[in-house]
Amino acid sequence: MSDDVMHAIEALREKGLRVTEQRKAILEALACTDSPRSAEETFSALPADTCDLVTAYRCLEQFEKAGVVERGVRENGTKVYCLKDEHGHHHHLTCRKCGCTEKIDLCMGDELEEAAVGFGYTELSHVMEVFGLCPSCG
Ligand SMILES: [Zn+2]
Ligand SMILES: [Zn+2]
Repeated sequence: MSDDVMHAIEALREKGLRVTEQRKAILEALACTDSPRSAEETFSALPADTCDLVTAYRCLEQFEKAGVVERGVRENGTKVYCLKDEHGHHHHLTCRKCGCTEKIDLCMGDELEEAAVGFGYTELSHVMEVFGLCPSCG
């Protein structure tokens, strides 16, 4: 089991969520790739008979609420998820042709969230993804 999965499991326990075999399998499916995955892609990476797609969706939403995974979005609007790593919050660069991704450990979110606080908003989150053509496709 990878360190990222171990950390995620600890975090789930701290939030009072039960760590079932299903949840563990979903975390491992996310941990074995650097690219964010949609719920369907996560589901198809699970060992056969782990759970149904609806359960996979629900688990990913619970993980997001618990702060264990980060949610992103593709250009077509599909929600994607990735495990938080030791650097915590990050963003992705995605090639719109081949779908390869790079991780960007840079975030301008603080300024955005400060602006949101100025509007009186609380419990802020943000999603920011960058799309383009990678060097092999461009
Ligand atoms: Zn590409
Ligand atoms: Zn950010």
